[in-house]
Amino acid sequence: MYIQNNTRDVLLFVFIIIMISCGAPEKKPTNDIKEKKPERATLPSFDSDSAFYYLKTQVAFGPRVPNTESHRECANYLIKILDRFADTIYVQETTVTAFDRTKLDIKNIIGSFNPENTSRILLAAHWDTRPFADEDPDPENFYTPIEGANDGASGVAVLLEIARLLYKNPIETGIDIILFDAEDYGAHSRHNKNAEDTWALGSQYWSQNPHVPNYFARFGILLDMVGAPNATFKHEGYSMYFAPNIVRRVWQTAQSAGYGNYFLNQKAGYIMDDHFYINKYRNIPTINIIHQDDSTPHGFFEHWHTVKDVVENIDKNTLKSVGQTVLNVIYEN
Ligand SMILES: [Zn+2]
Repeated sequence: MYIQNNTRDVLLFVFIIIMISCGAPEKKPTNDIKEKKPERATLPSFDSDSAFYYLKTQVAFGPRVPNTESHRECANYLIKILDRFADTIYVQETTVTAFDRTKLDIKNIIGSFNPENTSRILLAAHWDTRPFADEDPDPENFYTPIEGANDGASGVAVLLEIARLLYKNPIETGIDIILFDAEDYGAHSRHNKNAEDTWALGSQYWSQNPHVPNYFARFGILLDMVGAPNATFKHEGYSMYFAPNIVRRVWQTAQSAGYGNYFLNQKAGYIMDDHFYINKYRNIPTINIIHQDDSTPHGFFEHWHTVKDVVENIDKNTLKSVGQTVLNVIYEN
């Protein structure tokens, strides 16, 4: 683990001192965008065009499967964007073992706002994509990596847009945006149906080795598959078990903001996802805003883990409903 920003700030400081001692004009470096924060916090409007751009850019790297070049390039992109907006960035690098014993080099990428504040909210999504389309109707595709426009890129895109808005409209609450790696490298469904701990490897690691010792947040919100047209977000089982009050608050906020057609007051199944391990190992009450749908055979959005999880099947209005809801929740704190 290393803290990129601190190093950069120290270098910048040294640079300024050298410039002053050399008699250079006392002018702030124009590339230091972090010094221009506005003063007051106003509730921003979530820009779904901007979020959609962040989504498309991730997908353009190709499938973000650990140990591939696309994965490395996308990590650099995500670090660059978060570093532009957050106060401190942490990149947690480690190696985990997949269900098939492959060693995966992974990166959990964390952007923190107001890192000194002990009152914190955690926002998370996974940035990796599934190495195989094992739910595709065509068996030919069972080992093709998915593009993951919805399953992966959508949650990250919403969080990057929230990071941009937090930078432009600062608040006092501490916010940590955590982009987890290796969520979707779970056992191939055609071989092993009973391998729950093979999922969410990045969050399992982080939950037991957080980027800050004894890390705690008041609550957490995980986003997963938040970009399909007419998505339905229901009261997911583990969210209700570990954090029922947060579920009620978020769903109420969404409904008052006019997104009641997306956020339904319905019970839904238990999903093994990153939030489970955050609850289990860190005791941070964390909910999952995840698309659940009884009308599909697997219970998720239509193109889940298929080669059709592509940009063309994303609807900006869904990104807006989730992004604005999360903003309303965190700015009301
Ligand atoms: Zn997935």
